[in-house]
Amino acid sequence: MVPAPFALRSKRQETADTWTLELEPRGGPALEFAPGQFTMLSAFGTGEVPISISGDPDGEGRLVHTVRAVGLATKAICAAAPGDVLSVRGPFGRPWPVDDLTGGDVLIVAGGIGLAPLRPAILALLARRARYGRLVLLYGGRSPDQLLFAGELTEWADRGLDVAVTVDSAGPEWLGTVGVVPRLVRRAQFDHANASAVLCGPEVMMRFTVAALAQGGIGGDRVFASMERNMQCGIGHCGHCQLGPTLVCRDGPVYAWGELERWLAIREL
Ligand SMILES: Cc1cc2nc3c(=O)[nH]c(=O)nc-3n(C[C@H](O)[C@H](O)[C@H](O)COP(=O)(O)OP(=O)(O)OC[C@H]3O[C@@H](n4cnc5c(N)ncnc54)[C@H](O)[C@@H]3O)c2cc1C
Repeated sequence: MVPAPFALRSKRQETADTWTLELEPRGGPALEFAPGQFTMLSAFGTGEVPISISGDPDGEGRLVHTVRAVGLATKAICAAAPGDVLSVRGPFGRPWPVDDLTGGDVLIVAGGIGLAPLRPAILALLARRARYGRLVLLYGGRSPDQLLFAGELTEWADRGLDVAVTVDSAGPEWLGTVGVVPRLVRRAQFDHANASAVLCGPEVMMRFTVAALAQGGIGGDRVFASMERNMQCGIGHCGHCQLGPTLVCRDGPVYAWGELERWLAIREL
């Protein structure tokens, strides 16, 4: 429960309302994490919020977060300037099962800010590229100017990731695909019999993606999704993030879709 002070080292604007922050521990040890884990992050005095780690798990000890400024806490975090100190607890949560995906094709399906929690998984998969079959990223944003890590997508493609991007709407300058992410699933090239998928994005996107994957024969035991629920403690004490019999902070945020399906079928749960 005790937060550690981290100093903001650098800050990069990704989109109009989203920043990537690089933090460094002030005195304490560097934070080791697995792809898909999150911290409870705070600019002092505005509340703590769960934010996924978006940095390289094999990186050199800096803590990287990509934050969309939507409310009090996230706006204060994004307003921090280099040198400012933020509070960090964690890392928490069940990570993406990156090692268990060895030997097969992996589909990475992201919507909007959902690419942030998947970035460490992408970097881990690419760092061990030979262990996997085809690696495919299907990424959708609302519009071209809402796409995260735009500069890195080409670099990832050069390192062996098949990248397909779509946007909900765009002006005439956009020469890429327009449409929702689940549609990309049908077009993607991969070995259906030997593929797994990792998903993060709006729940509706994940539901339609799961349906498209199921049509291709990929069942809920081979699909992993990161869930978002309102969280306060991050360590399974307060119960705010309950989802059926599970607590998202402790038992998630990454679940096999098969574990979730029956709870997500219940409205407003
Ligand atoms: C496990 C986990 C990982 C997360 N990882 C990230 C991450 O990497 N980057 C990131 O930016 N956010 C992430 N979030 C979401 C983030 O925690 C929330 O955006 C944050 O709690 C909002 O707090 P706030 O005080 O800024 O806004 P609030 O005052 O709580 O909300 C302000 C307004 O924004 C709306 N809102 C809240 N959250 C969202 C959202 N996610 N998208 C759109 N509208 C929203 C609220 O409904 C409200 O209308 C994650 C959440 C979870 C559970």
